[in-house]
Amino acid sequence: MADGDARIVVATHNEGKLAEMRSILDACIHGLPGEQAARMERFTLVSAGQLGLPDPVETGLTFEQNALLKAGDVTERTGLPAIADDSGLVVDVMGAAPGILSARWSGVHGDDRANMRLLLAQLKDLSEDDLGARFVTAAALVLPAGMGKEEVADRKGPTEFIRTGRMDGHLVHRPRGDQGFGYDPIFVPDDQPERARRAGVELTSAELEPAEKNAISHRGKALKAIMPILIRALS
Ligand code: IMP
Repeated sequence: MADGDARIVVATHNEGKLAEMRSILDACIHGLPGEQAARMERFTLVSAGQLGLPDPVETGLTFEQNALLKAGDVTERTGLPAIADDSGLVVDVMGAAPGILSARWSGVHGDDRANMRLLLAQLKDLSEDDLGARFVTAAALVLPAGMGKEEVADRKGPTEFIRTGRMDGHLVHRPRGDQGFGYDPIFVPDDQPERARRAGVELTSAELEPAEKNAISHRGKALKAIMPILIRALS
């Protein structure tokens, strides 16, 4: 998207996330008929960090609630449309855990190594065959009151949309790979790339190239699902 006269805010302080959303939205716009594409080209994606907005405390009890909380906070503060995502790891034998607490599982927010170490210690006596797990993302779009096509524009409060994506797999006891972040070194996706299938090996998501992971990831799926809604509402 080129610079335009209107902004859409990505509710993040992570510029990598902004770039990922920009490339997914650009790919969606690329497939549109000319006039509709031109209407979307007016919009610029900016991050909450670039606007100097605070990171809200994630008090939601589900990924969906946290994604809506983050996008809603931005819209309330700026009057602009906002997109947010919230993700985490869910391990079958642990119920919904680590879930919404994935980033702070060890007690220190964002300490990926400590989070992974604690999870591995908790699961150490179980067979890898019993460690089914999945990554989940909820992507939220919030439009300010009155914004969007007729079907959504004629209303007094903000309009909220939510879509989810998941990547199924299982955990392994020994971390492998140095790509990605978080729990990637101990997560083996079910959906393996062709090169792994040919070699008869299973790769962790930290052993996948970024493009290989993006093609199957929970985040990619949720964001690809929310973008057409944004486009339908604004173009
Ligand atoms: P966020 O909501 O995208 O910030 O994700 C919250 C936490 O979930 C991260 O800090 C990671 O611990 C975990 N997580 C989410 N997505 C991934 C992933 O793709 N790979 C590894 N860990 C992830």
